[in-house]
Amino acid sequence: MGIPGSGLAKGLAVTLRTMTRKSHTAQYPDAQPELPPRTRGVIGLFEENCTVCMLCARECPDWCIYIDSHKETVPPAAPGGRERSRNVLDRFAIDFALCMYCGICIEVCPFDALFWSPEFEYAEEDIRDLTHERDKLREWMWTVPAPPALDPRAEEPKELAAARKAADKLAAAEAAQAAEAERGSAGPGGTAGNGNGNRNRNGNGSGTEHGNGAAS
Ligand code: SF4
Ligand code: SF4
Repeated sequence: MGIPGSGLAKGLAVTLRTMTRKSHTAQYPDAQPELPPRTRGVIGLFEENCTVCMLCARECPDWCIYIDSHKETVPPAAPGGRERSRNVLDRFAIDFALCMYCGICIEVCPFDALFWSPEFEYAEEDIRDLTHERDKLREWMWTVPAPPALDPRAEEPKELAAARKAADKLAAAEAAQAAEAERGSAGPGGTAGNGNGNRNRNGNGSGTEHGNGAAS
């Protein structure tokens, strides 16, 4: 059992400690809060990437993603080919009154169509208005911060390494082609080499002769 009154003394000590600390209250909305870049505010939709695979809606624990779509027939790419069908997005909405910001939908999306935006000013007077449709989700997409820079000592991503390899190969092929063309143009007459040689010889020769002449 503790000393009688020790709890009260501890409480007063905390009060005294915090009384002397500087207040950090932000006067919102006059002062905007400084949020960490990866803040989970709302979810932005980049609908060009969405293939209507429905994974996000199926995995959402709150069932608060609503997607409607229809199928469209795409003509064959080449004559004699087969027609294909693709899903066309009609509706994509998220009910933020139900969303618990778990981020599962963003994690499972295989096509990078969903992103966290730090936008937080989306309060509504009616709870039903917290279901935001695709236009609003797309608007929020433009508030999504750029991804953080890679660690400078990190291993180069495979895609970059492959792209660099292809660019190096192309540059080497172009250089070889240019060298080949140069050899071809210089080969038959050998005029390019002679012309240069003559110019150099003449220039040097006359300089030397004049110099020598003046000295003697
Ligand atoms: S963050 Fe979680 S709860 Fe919210 S829509 Fe995505 S999966 Fe559903
Ligand atoms: S998981 Fe991604 S691609 Fe699939 S429906 Fe959802 S947002 Fe679209």
